[in-house]
Amino acid sequence: MANPMADEVRRFKGSDEKNPFEAMSERFDRAAQLLGLDADLYAVMRVPSREIKVYVPVRMDTGHIQVFEGFRVQHNFARGPAKGGIRYAPDVNIDEVKALSAWMTWKCAVVNVPFGGGKGGIICNPQQMSEGELERLTRRYTAELIDFIGPDKDVPAPDMNTNEQTMAWIMDTYSMHARHTVTAVVTGKPVALGGSLGRREATGRGVMFCVNEAIKRYDLTPEKTSVVVQGSGNVGGIGALLMHEHGYKVVGISDIGSGIYNPAGLDIPNVLEYLKKNRTLEAYPGADAVSNKDLLELPCDVLTPCATENQITSENADRLKCKILAEGANGPTTPKADKILHEKGIFVIPDILANAGGVTVSYFEWVQDRMGYFWPEAQVNARLEEKMVASFSELSHYAGKHDVDTRTAAYMLAIDRVAFDTRMRGIYA
Ligand code: NAD
Repeated sequence: MANPMADEVRRFKGSDEKNPFEAMSERFDRAAQLLGLDADLYAVMRVPSREIKVYVPVRMDTGHIQVFEGFRVQHNFARGPAKGGIRYAPDVNIDEVKALSAWMTWKCAVVNVPFGGGKGGIICNPQQMSEGELERLTRRYTAELIDFIGPDKDVPAPDMNTNEQTMAWIMDTYSMHARHTVTAVVTGKPVALGGSLGRREATGRGVMFCVNEAIKRYDLTPEKTSVVVQGSGNVGGIGALLMHEHGYKVVGISDIGSGIYNPAGLDIPNVLEYLKKNRTLEAYPGADAVSNKDLLELPCDVLTPCATENQITSENADRLKCKILAEGANGPTTPKADKILHEKGIFVIPDILANAGGVTVSYFEWVQDRMGYFWPEAQVNARLEEKMVASFSELSHYAGKHDVDTRTAAYMLAIDRVAFDTRMRGIYA
């Protein structure tokens, strides 16, 4: 019998280092091989269940219609409804959305929440669109996907350039079609509309909980730990703020334009205030300007990329100076860079664990919506901490037991869980 795994491994030889779906598949293949995953499960699990492409007409403020291309990929439903964000960006593409949807499947399995993986994207430039245009885009995209999303089918959430307002529009549009209010169709909503307290901060908080565990391996305390954060949005900005409040010394931070560095530590609330007011970190007083590229190579104990994919590649991995890499973003490191980081002895908290705080509290939000009973913020945060600390510990043990790096361990653990459930359900073929 032909070995589909060998064919796939061949296909990825000499592949493009920066294609996120190839990066995901390469790691999937390695983990599947180590697990001895049988060929049928391998064939089913390495591809998405469904790829939906929509063309979304929007009446622009000029009065003319513009048609936008959008996607929703539902990677796997073995453990529950698909779950994952929606990204608005000029360069979002189907391979990126496929990778992000698969990462959601593995992430939900790593933290053991009962969801599969999904992800959406619309090719657009939100910075150049008015609020009205964004609302019409969001509503029509939702209408196009109406048969495919829902609390038991696929539950979207925010991602890059989408936020609580975007989720409110999706929830309202879905509810108008359903003829009743369906809060659990999305997570990351405003609290007043069925959102969960603590959801906005959950991804950054989850990153911090992982870092709290990782520094123990180096006998560090937050006060003795310097941190560099790439990105200052929902994950990076909030992550930096929470770590600053927790006593960490955040020495560098950036946004898409540029970064700042002060080895004595930055006043993060002041930095974020400056960013909000000026919409850039340029000319921030009391810190050196640094490019996003150089920021990644700054001396620090913890580097946490919280912006986008492919930031750490075979080109720069060797120049990283951190002890711990905490991947707040999805896919910030390429497989070729993984090998270099491993050789350098950098401890990697892989994305599918490090940024899983977001989907964990999204799960809490979905549960609260379905119960119609809402938890105090302290309870949300305590349950999040419990989940992240337990998952970190489970992953560390798994990596030790199988003598593999943490990235491979995370994929193995996740694939093993999804495979177990798929085997139990049986493949309807
Ligand atoms: P965001 O839009 O709120 O912020 C993104 C930040 O990254 C901004 O500061 C932006 O200026 C910066 N940025 C964007 N492109 C960049 C580039 N090419 N180089 C340098 N900086 C760049 O988005 P977010 O929600 O914080 O998401 C950031 C990452 O975290 C993404 O990979 C996303 O998939 C991942 N993530 C987000 C969540 C969540 O709950 N929001 C959960 C899990 C993972």
